[in-house]
Amino acid sequence: MNTSKVIDGKAAAARVLASVKADVSKLKSDGIEPALAVILVGQDPASQVYVRNKILRAEEAGIRSLEYRLSAETPQAELLKLITELNDDHSINGILLQLPLPAHIEEALVLQAIAPGKDVDGFHSENVGGLSQGRNVLTPCTPSGCMQLLEDACGDLSGKHAVVIGRSNIVGKPMAALLLKAHCSVTVVHSRSVDAKALCRQADIVVAAVGRPRMIDSSWLKPGAVVIDVGINRIEEDGRSRLVGDVDFDSALPQVSAITPVPGGVGPMTIAFLMKNTVTAALQQFHSRQAHAQQSTTQSSPSEAVCLSIS
Ligand code: NAD
Repeated sequence: MNTSKVIDGKAAAARVLASVKADVSKLKSDGIEPALAVILVGQDPASQVYVRNKILRAEEAGIRSLEYRLSAETPQAELLKLITELNDDHSINGILLQLPLPAHIEEALVLQAIAPGKDVDGFHSENVGGLSQGRNVLTPCTPSGCMQLLEDACGDLSGKHAVVIGRSNIVGKPMAALLLKAHCSVTVVHSRSVDAKALCRQADIVVAAVGRPRMIDSSWLKPGAVVIDVGINRIEEDGRSRLVGDVDFDSALPQVSAITPVPGGVGPMTIAFLMKNTVTAALQQFHSRQAHAQQSTTQSSPSEAVCLSIS
């Protein structure tokens, strides 16, 4: 009998979004309306779909969303000006700049212009540094979603050996940092690794973020491993276009104790954690404004302060 478990990312994302919705409703009853600004530069078709989905999920969660669609020719200075305006606007809690950007825009520079407290993608160096120090900062959405799926599947991750395949700034590196924070022993495998397969075969947990269709089959996996497949690869097969992961799902399934499918695994969690980060940012900004107001007035006392918390 096959006892392997297919992890249902859609159901997990629905649980996260339901909790976000409840938090938003609580914040609204206290006079705070979380708001997310989404910036899209250019006409990339995949980015347009991602942005539309993000806006839809925000609306469903009760988060106010503002969409800024800029032409592909937008000068970098104009994009920076918009980011500065959004940074200064207290009614905006999160700023998401959809990647990739047109070639004439310096990605690292504009991402760094987003205020760290509004950086709901967790790409600002202050948040990256905070994560590597194990602090509670805004953390990249895809790795955060992967962690939730792993905690749901495995419970306590402490002491487990995790292999992350891929070392990108968006997925691989923050994933490794989060696993380390959860007390795993972490190995990061990448394009220059010698015998990546042998390293991977030692892992209790495998997170694949490579971008190569079905690269990892059962021969890469220890029996009973838990596999999170981040890869999204479009291939032509049997005369039709379809999405597959970095893991050869059919080959891996009998070997593993749990695995995410593609699609329907990590993808839905990424958007859910974007919403969660927006609410976290709104709450942090509220508390920081409140602390600032208390410092600058001699009349208010701590007992008069509104204290909000969310799950
Ligand atoms: P990337 O291209 O920036 O990084 C790929 C990494 O894979 C690199 O660090 C490289 O060293 C490593 N690599 C390449 N070939 C390798 C090999 N043969 N052996 C071991 N390592 C190898 O990609 P990324 O942005 O990290 O994305 C990875 C995949 O995840 C892509 O398919 C992407 O579409 C997908 N993705 C999915 C989501 C989601 O929401 N599900 C989010 C982000 C990325």
